[in-house]
Amino acid sequence: MTDRGTPTLTGNRGLRIEEPLIFEQGHPGKTGVDLPEPPDMPDRLGGLARTGPIGLPGLSEPEVVRHYTRLSQKNYAIDAGFYPLGSCTMKHNPRLNERMARLPGFADLHPFQPESTVQGALAVMHRLSDWLLGLTGMQAVALSPAAGAHGELCGMQAIRAALDARGAGERRIVLVPDSAHGTNPATAALCGFKVRGVPGDARGRVDLDAFREALDDGVAGVMLTNPNTCGLFENDIMDLATAVHEAGAYFYLDGANFNAIVGRVKIADLGVDAMHINLHKTFSTPHGGGGPGAGPTVLSAALAPFAPLPHVVADGAGYRLIEHVEGEMQPFGRMKGFHGQFGVFVRALSYVMSMGADGLRQASGDAVLNANYLLARLGETLTPSFAGPCMHEALFDDRFLKGSGVSTLDFAKAMIDEGFHPMTMYFPLVVHGAMLMEPTETESRDSLDAFCDAVLALADRARSGDAAFFTEAPRHTPRRRLDETRAARQPVLRWEPPEPAKAAE
Ligand SMILES: *Cc1c(COP(=O)(O)O)cnc(C)c1O
Repeated sequence: MTDRGTPTLTGNRGLRIEEPLIFEQGHPGKTGVDLPEPPDMPDRLGGLARTGPIGLPGLSEPEVVRHYTRLSQKNYAIDAGFYPLGSCTMKHNPRLNERMARLPGFADLHPFQPESTVQGALAVMHRLSDWLLGLTGMQAVALSPAAGAHGELCGMQAIRAALDARGAGERRIVLVPDSAHGTNPATAALCGFKVRGVPGDARGRVDLDAFREALDDGVAGVMLTNPNTCGLFENDIMDLATAVHEAGAYFYLDGANFNAIVGRVKIADLGVDAMHINLHKTFSTPHGGGGPGAGPTVLSAALAPFAPLPHVVADGAGYRLIEHVEGEMQPFGRMKGFHGQFGVFVRALSYVMSMGADGLRQASGDAVLNANYLLARLGETLTPSFAGPCMHEALFDDRFLKGSGVSTLDFAKAMIDEGFHPMTMYFPLVVHGAMLMEPTETESRDSLDAFCDAVLALADRARSGDAAFFTEAPRHTPRRRLDETRAARQPVLRWEPPEPAKAAE
């Protein structure tokens, strides 16, 4: 039996309650607080004081609590179950790191406090910088970028500054492989560069010959992801780096997939000039729910002089925050107000210190092992896009669904009904109907097996000709299939009160 069963009388299902918008629940004048009438005050707003009602919904405190609690229960999170979203590294975030970030001595700081009162916080930033430099072998690190894409911006700005400083500002082209994350070409464009695509080869790596051909003296740099978004290591990376440098350009490495190689690959040895690290992917900060992330960017000796302000230095007297140009520095500017996402730094330092260098190395090994476990168990039935083992994520395409009338999207919706958050779909764009699965090191073999069992059962069902099972999914979610095209093209971003309420105003 595949339908959702008889509708209930109330629209609620079990104890899962249909939740109207908060504006549809409130009544004017009903509030959770009882304030005294304000005293009569002369109007000091020059006649601009509001005369009509403010239009906020009126609800009691328990009603507000229930509304947001019910909404939170409709969220899916890594704390609720397996989250194999490729390219996102949705792994467990140890609670210890949360505890550390919430210590009042860290959580209650103000960025304008005198330096002498925040020595501990500056020490955290300094030690984290040391770890990031140690793990990458690079020369300098800018902690302030607030996300991966922001770190890309930081690295590409440093490249621009370096080119300008050596009188090569006319170099305007940035090479971006076809499999790149969308943020790479967007960053290059934002920095005023022109993007030149580079095709991949049959192995899912950058085509070395095409790459060499695309390099000329108009090229400012290249933005490469490694391991790449097909979940594969770019084996030719040192040849690519050499070619980039021989052409007088700089090498930006998108380090969002660092979780697959931490403790195993020294980034500096690859010939990299700049790389961002997503602390919220590799170094344990909850993400995906809109919370802050951080994208510290490590720089080579060639780019270090252009690193943005501020940074922390340690001398005999303690820690100091360098906020203004000193000595030989030629910082290109600042990435944001203040010093960066401090709470994320605390989590990251807590994570690396509790894992230790050996633990980090084991984590990257386990992440790769888990992805290869999925590849091996699913690879006989689904169609892996490229031959050979993978790194941290396994990429399949939709060839196994050929002729079944089931698309990657339909398949993903049926996975939701079975209790599994879908993998990343239709990315990377270099394969048809992509399904990109990243289990991370924090999943047990039991959870990987449960996932594989469900996916294999669905694949059998798809190929047995039961297309309707998929095209009608999801059946068991609070909402069924949404019109995503219309939602994207004609978004309704504003709630309007229904007509009778309007008339009564
Ligand atoms: C996640 C990711 C980014 C962007 O990072 P944000 O923190 O989301 O800005 C860039 N490149 C790759 C390959 C990624 O996976």
